[in-house]
Amino acid sequence: MVTRTDRQRGALWGLAVGDALGAAVEFRQPGSFEPVTGYRGGGPHGLGPGEWTDDTSMALALADSIARVGWDLDDQAARYVRWWRDGHYSVNGRCFDIGITTRAALQRFEQTGDARSSGGTAEHASGNGSIMRLAPVPVRYGNMLSDRILALVERAADSSLPTHASAPCISACVYMTVVMSGLIEGLPREDVLDPSWPPLRRARDISSFHPEIERIADGSFRAKSPPEITGSGYVVRTLEAALWAFHDARDFREAVLRVVNLGQDADTTGAVCGQFAGSYWGETGIPQEWRDGLARPDMLEDALQGLL
Ligand code: MG
Ligand code: MG
Repeated sequence: MVTRTDRQRGALWGLAVGDALGAAVEFRQPGSFEPVTGYRGGGPHGLGPGEWTDDTSMALALADSIARVGWDLDDQAARYVRWWRDGHYSVNGRCFDIGITTRAALQRFEQTGDARSSGGTAEHASGNGSIMRLAPVPVRYGNMLSDRILALVERAADSSLPTHASAPCISACVYMTVVMSGLIEGLPREDVLDPSWPPLRRARDISSFHPEIERIADGSFRAKSPPEITGSGYVVRTLEAALWAFHDARDFREAVLRVVNLGQDADTTGAVCGQFAGSYWGETGIPQEWRDGLARPDMLEDALQGLL
């Protein structure tokens, strides 16, 4: 039986496993590589099989912050800076792949000390950097879904601000947090992805979604397929691709391999899809060889222990 704890653990494990699966084919065009079926070394950062990237590092930083000080955006940003400057939270002790938007935001944070205003607000700064690290928010606060949804939505939106403060990024974090919280509760996937699901309607009342995220919440991912679905790093396209891969997959493996094999920002589409799939099928739904082969599982376990 899949328990709530299993699904909470699955959300973070799914993120890291999806990240590690995609890392080897990041930036590749679909069809230009041998389809991914498991971990392989290489990729733009020359990682070993099962090693993960910035997506997981930032999620570990966020988890550590929540575990140590509760909800504090400045502390979250300070831990992102520790990763960027010192390689803390990295699989190999160095920061090898920070995004442009994230770096600019952390630079601003170093100058001002104010994480609420450090993230880029321009629409062109709408990369997927805040949804890729999101799991600690629904893992820790997902139980607010039934009676404190306003506070849950606020935390989800706030979590984006230190690095990605544009409307599409904030809406994507809110939508994804609400859906993952429902999955972690054990609700059927058809329910939480249905636009008429009451908590989703409540969330849209509280925090009106950016029009492009509204289209996703209305089910755009059901009607499309590649090449319209892409592994782009634009937050809207990443979220849509992850849901396209997840919504009718038979299991974790099928969902994550589908999206990773779109190439492009494959580590991050893998990380986002892995969060949905892990919240739904649980840690025990992740293939054993992918759990056994992931690098530095001790770092994930520390984060989970702090969160749970
Ligand atoms: Mg990455
Ligand atoms: Mg990426």
